[in-house]
Amino acid sequence: MDLFEYAYKNQKKEESINPNIEKPLWKNSQYDFVSTLEELKQIALECRKCKLCLTRKNVVFGEGNPNADLMFIGEGPGKTEDETGRPFVGLAGQLLTRIIENGLKISRENVYIANVVKCRPTVEMKGEKDRPPDEEEVNACSPYLIRQIELIKPKIIITLGNPSTRFLLNTKLGITKLRGNVYYYKDIAVVPTYHPSFVLRNGGENSPLKKDVWEDMKIVLKLMQDLRIKSYKINDK
Ligand code: SF4
Repeated sequence: MDLFEYAYKNQKKEESINPNIEKPLWKNSQYDFVSTLEELKQIALECRKCKLCLTRKNVVFGEGNPNADLMFIGEGPGKTEDETGRPFVGLAGQLLTRIIENGLKISRENVYIANVVKCRPTVEMKGEKDRPPDEEEVNACSPYLIRQIELIKPKIIITLGNPSTRFLLNTKLGITKLRGNVYYYKDIAVVPTYHPSFVLRNGGENSPLKKDVWEDMKIVLKLMQDLRIKSYKINDK
């Protein structure tokens, strides 16, 4: 981190942390001994630390640029992700890709996309209807996410929905209250917004929530400008 970035972030932290938010938990990963994302992925692919291993088809570790400035974190894989082993590739994934590429003018390959849990959580473990991960699953799986963040070292994290936002900011507040502001996890700016699935469930392609997501992306664009993050053109790696 250069001097400019350090001074900027400290000033922003002073200005923008919501005083109502609980102190973020600066959790340590139990995978400090792992030095590459690939090594961490190989461990996760064999993982059986929580009950989600019983019903998964694939572990969805995450994908993207290992040196990304921007990292997007959702809650967990859905049906298509479970089948393909890739994050955000269903309908919600297509919306996320449009947000990244049309809104932030950065190619999807140049950001990193992950989830709080790496295996698909479904209602009553039936593999039919998705649900958010429970606390036990988040606790079991989060060391992978923490180490992913430590290895990637993004400058901005965009949390998508409640589980990732609540986990990183260590709060019980909901996304509706939290979005629209910048918070910090360690020294990384965190911008919470709605999960693309939630947007699609509330009005589909004409969802009124899209306007809120765009307002949040304007916050990200401003941060990118302030932190001198280059806006890569599509396919310009
Ligand atoms: S969700 Fe995470 S902790 Fe649970 S089995 Fe999958 S990789 Fe392991």
